[in-house]
Amino acid sequence: MTNNPPASQHNAIQLQDAGHHIHPFTDTKALNKKGARVINRGEGVYVWDDQGNKMLDAMAGLWCMAIGYGRTEVADAVHAQMQELPYYNTFFQTTHKPVAELAKKLAEISPEAINHTFFTSGGSDANDTMLRLVRHYWASLGKPSKKVIISRKNAYHGSTVAGASLGGMTFMHEQGDLPIPNITHIGQPYWYGEGGDLTPDEFGLLRARELEEKILELGEDKVAAFIAEPVQGAGGVIIPPDSYWPEVQRICDKYEILLVADEVITGFGRTGERFASETYDLKPDVICIAKALSSGYLPIGGVMLSDRLADVVINQGGEFEHGYTYSGHPAACAAALKVLEIMDREDLPNYVKNDIGPYLQERWLKLADHPLVGEARMVGLMGALELTPDKATRAKFAVKAGTVGLMCREFCFDNGLVMRAVGDTMIISPPLVLSHDEADELIAKATAVLDLTYAAAK
Ligand code: PLP
Repeated sequence: MTNNPPASQHNAIQLQDAGHHIHPFTDTKALNKKGARVINRGEGVYVWDDQGNKMLDAMAGLWCMAIGYGRTEVADAVHAQMQELPYYNTFFQTTHKPVAELAKKLAEISPEAINHTFFTSGGSDANDTMLRLVRHYWASLGKPSKKVIISRKNAYHGSTVAGASLGGMTFMHEQGDLPIPNITHIGQPYWYGEGGDLTPDEFGLLRARELEEKILELGEDKVAAFIAEPVQGAGGVIIPPDSYWPEVQRICDKYEILLVADEVITGFGRTGERFASETYDLKPDVICIAKALSSGYLPIGGVMLSDRLADVVINQGGEFEHGYTYSGHPAACAAALKVLEIMDREDLPNYVKNDIGPYLQERWLKLADHPLVGEARMVGLMGALELTPDKATRAKFAVKAGTVGLMCREFCFDNGLVMRAVGDTMIISPPLVLSHDEADELIAKATAVLDLTYAAAK
């Protein structure tokens, strides 16, 4: 099947786009000079551009396409829902079947103590909602001074004002006068980049104990919660040392600080359990979700609360003055329900944990032998390669940070592979349905692209 449009149509799309579309996280002026790549089809783990180029999408879109492209049964479920009830809100004491069913399903599959969900349209507004819910919780308990949320440098929690403030990306803070008050950031457990001569475990403890120092500095009566991605995604697939999470959990318990797991990327099988909180034996009070919940078929996210929090918010909090027009959108809920059904039927978290995860990991970790790679790491199906001119010293390139990463990303596109560059770190997060053959193809293409980048970066 060929999908190549006539050149005039391709050019027309690019012109419309360049003339009128402002792209997220993009220098639109620079993009407009060359024109955006037009993607027009997806099937399984592959996408095609309108020039007929087939690419293995090792980023699953933006971390979301867990069940793979082209699942007509999701489209059918959405179609049926749209014909019956395309929209109704969940304000004013109303509900509908898909939202009620989805809330119950999420309670069944989430960690034991987590049984209540507030729905949003994505991950950023889930984190905004989290911030308000957490403060509302403490205020309802008569502790309104517990307001501060502690987050981490280089975290990503979304692009809304609260999401970007919670995130620790300084280049985002510089635009728009962020962060907003009562959000503060501690160091990240990024051993490769910041661990120096310490062992990973020594470094993990050091970074976890920054949380304790910050709580003591602020006073525990001021601190509402600590938010973190179990594995930092957009920051560069940063997998914390083994010592990190147990110490963070201990500190949160000791000082009565709520633990918020931002599982927008890691939720629904990515790390080999339904939630990475299980992978790392965390007991979060709040879990934020989006992305793989609907595999990106329609926009939906949510904030899941433990019984302890929900009890206070529901029974002592009165009316929660917060909500979105699309909280619990029926069609998005129908998509999520079908996606979760497929994940159950195909036992995807188990497939990641016991089959494709170990298979890909074994091969991915061997890429550390490449002369350009300082470290290869992977948990479940999310991985990173640290590019360096000198493996022994984990040195940075002489050219501006990110130059070699971008070059590598372009080689990927040209060679039928989608990887993402975070500075000079290449990251992947392929669909959970990746087969062994596709994993082999991914590794072969990644190796070829590393060779090309190595030759060009010399
Ligand atoms: N939280 C995490 C951990 C994310 O990775 C993202 C997006 O990548 C978000 C929140 C924001 O989600 P969204 O883009 O759906 O608003």
